[in-house]
Amino acid sequence: MTPDDVDSIDSTMCPTASTIPMLGLGTWQASNDDCTAAVQTALECGYRHIDTAQGYDNEDAVGEGIAASDVDRDDIFLATKVSSSNLAHEDILETARESVDRLGVESVDLLYVHWPSRAYDPEGTLSAFDQLYDEGLIENVGISNFEPEQIEQAVALCDAPILANQVECHPLLPQEHIRDACANYDIEVVAYSPLARGSIVDQPEIQEIAAKHNVTETQVSLAWLHEKGVTAIPKSVTPEHIRDNWRSLTLDLEQDDINRIDAIDETSREVDPSFAPWN
Ligand code: NAP
Repeated sequence: MTPDDVDSIDSTMCPTASTIPMLGLGTWQASNDDCTAAVQTALECGYRHIDTAQGYDNEDAVGEGIAASDVDRDDIFLATKVSSSNLAHEDILETARESVDRLGVESVDLLYVHWPSRAYDPEGTLSAFDQLYDEGLIENVGISNFEPEQIEQAVALCDAPILANQVECHPLLPQEHIRDACANYDIEVVAYSPLARGSIVDQPEIQEIAAKHNVTETQVSLAWLHEKGVTAIPKSVTPEHIRDNWRSLTLDLEQDDINRIDAIDETSREVDPSFAPWN
């Protein structure tokens, strides 16, 4: 099969890391009808993993996209995140329920701590996540933007297993130290900004590899993540991009391509707020 055959890639062809479908749809900066349409388009194209957050202000639009699609809720892996201002124990219990209501579901498959900052208090925050897990409001606990030190601390404090750490990851920010730390604790890595927010298309090595395989640069970036065992959640509200990204599942990079990408020395971090734990 070639990467053009999107109609013949059904959802069963998307591998699953642990319980997470390895290619999902990101929704940051997707709003209202655009967001609803993107979620519906993605689900009907074969995606079974949708990523949102309290802070994206679009949980209701995501829920509408799920409801409008012809895919059963039970077949979808739905993830959201608690904003760092809501990470005090009682605020988590209250706002997680509000998120689930806005999404129009009974529970979410994964709830992340969005950032280990602001109201993040390791014991108080993670005990609230444990409580939500025990109550069944969340199927899994996730962390996001955690560096190795915070990962180790969270694993020690959280009774429920931590399923995933969502971090920026793409060929210009390979995050090897975080991938290694997560592997030590059996935590999946979910890559946000997997297309370096679109700038991957301008990277010369990626352009050459894309031309060699007659595919797009975005497909090369997603296939590289896939080869590293990293789940990716590219954001798009453009139907052709949503399908283009889905086609990355059929791209097999050669070892030589992977070596060339691994050797890129250009670095770019797209998400770098002052409160990030690496600053
Ligand atoms: P991204 O997915 O790397 O890039 C999104 C940009 O690329 C959009 O401008 C999109 O435009 C464009 N694009 C998508 N597919 C394309 C294609 N095939 N060809 C050309 N352009 C394409 O960046 P991101 O939105 O920062 O990250 C993805 C998701 O990760 C977010 O939406 C969010 O769910 C999550 N995230 C999480 C955190 C966190 O702190 N945990 C931080 C950032 C992001 P169109 O919409 O027009 O296609």
